[in-house]
Amino acid sequence: MVEEAGLDAITKMFKKILIANRGEIALRIICACKELGIKTVAIYSEADRNSLPVRFADEAICIGPPQLALSYLNIPAVISAAEIANVDAVHPGYGLLAENANFAEVCETCGIKFIGPPPEITRLMGEKEKARAAMKKAGVPILPGSDGILGSDLEALEWARQIGYPVIIKASAGGGGKGMRIVRSDQELPALFLQASSEAAAAFGNGDLYMEKYVDRPRHIEFQILADSYGKVVSLGERECSIQRRHQKLLEESPSTQMTPELRQEIGDVLCKTLSEIGYVNAGTIEFLMDQDRRMYFIEMNTRIQVEHPVTEMVTDVDLVKAQIMIAAGARMEDVLHGPIVHRGHAIECRINAEHPEKFTPSAGKITAFHPPGGTGVRIDTAAYAEGTIPPYYDSLVAKLVVRGKDREEAISRMGRALEMFIVEGIYTTIPLHRRILADPEFREGKIDTGYIERFLAKTKDGAK
Ligand code: ADP
Repeated sequence: MVEEAGLDAITKMFKKILIANRGEIALRIICACKELGIKTVAIYSEADRNSLPVRFADEAICIGPPQLALSYLNIPAVISAAEIANVDAVHPGYGLLAENANFAEVCETCGIKFIGPPPEITRLMGEKEKARAAMKKAGVPILPGSDGILGSDLEALEWARQIGYPVIIKASAGGGGKGMRIVRSDQELPALFLQASSEAAAAFGNGDLYMEKYVDRPRHIEFQILADSYGKVVSLGERECSIQRRHQKLLEESPSTQMTPELRQEIGDVLCKTLSEIGYVNAGTIEFLMDQDRRMYFIEMNTRIQVEHPVTEMVTDVDLVKAQIMIAAGARMEDVLHGPIVHRGHAIECRINAEHPEKFTPSAGKITAFHPPGGTGVRIDTAAYAEGTIPPYYDSLVAKLVVRGKDREEAISRMGRALEMFIVEGIYTTIPLHRRILADPEFREGKIDTGYIERFLAKTKDGAK
């Protein structure tokens, strides 16, 4: 840790950063490093040889064949690249190794700064039922649920009766909506318990499950925080991520139409206090469900930058990735933020995935034409380009289209025209789906919850083109 703060501290601490990721987030981190005057090292698999992060980083190192386990998830290969390139720090982005506490530990053992929280906090938040207990202890509201891991389906049955149906069984190591089952009666519980457990074991190598009360038609609202290494934590307000398919976010916005300044302040204050007490450092997101009476319940914390972070950047003008790097270099919050956080206007992000817009089947392949929209208030985060290829091995995210307007109405109309002017040919994308959502009166009136997409798809099935 350094005494000096701000840019000086960073140029002293970090001359070169390795980006342990790929695609749009790797490019996003390169942008932040370039602006901070820090050199970058991209790592890539053989499938990403012609990718833009490789082109724009100062150095690039091939770390293996296309398969994730042999390249981007191969810790010895990533660490070897960091040592060969002699970097000062590693930025993990999101997904891949971002919430792998062992990876963070290995980095620190090798004298390389991991840009994220201390490994023990990543580990605590990675075990979701432990994170629940920690938040409950600190006074953050949680849903009624089991105390710890469910030992058997019989124990699950007892808890379900105590909590009251419907309940949701969730994987302790969960992520990406895997290992999750809604249970509505005693009869269906044993089979769903078994399914969730084997799905969790297959996905995370850990079949541990816990149980929560299932909230009917909730909204998913999350808070972005930043914490420096000196105990100062700030809240940057909320993002609403209720537009989800199979528990995967498709469209996010800020502010939430359901948020009031008082509730934002109240939740922000309790989170800042709690995270300061547990010694949280760097960027983090605390996810909540909001019920129909606007009560908020903690569900999980993500200890990394989120896919949807640009939504917050658009309304606050804070560069969250630069902030992450500065904090890791030892900068104090006042030098990271330069003043109070002010929220301006309304931002929306559409995730453009390489998927069929109705069948949702993956659509990898060569992009034959690519024209991103521009103009006032439009931002695109993407590593795609014409004649480039979307490899079949990875996440289907092709681009994040983000707009800001003076209010929600302007943001919606701006997003509508930006989607119309976004050309991606050669692969299927979710652009047509987003255009339909943006035109839907219910969405426009803000009548959304986590079940919106399923209802919308059922309602528009016959009318879908
Ligand atoms: P993951 O880590 O797999 O993403 P989360 O705990 O973040 O799992 O939940 C993902 C989504 O699942 C939520 O945004 C919400 O749509 C749904 N969900 C999770 N818990 C509940 C619950 N108790 N009641 C209703 N829906 C839930």
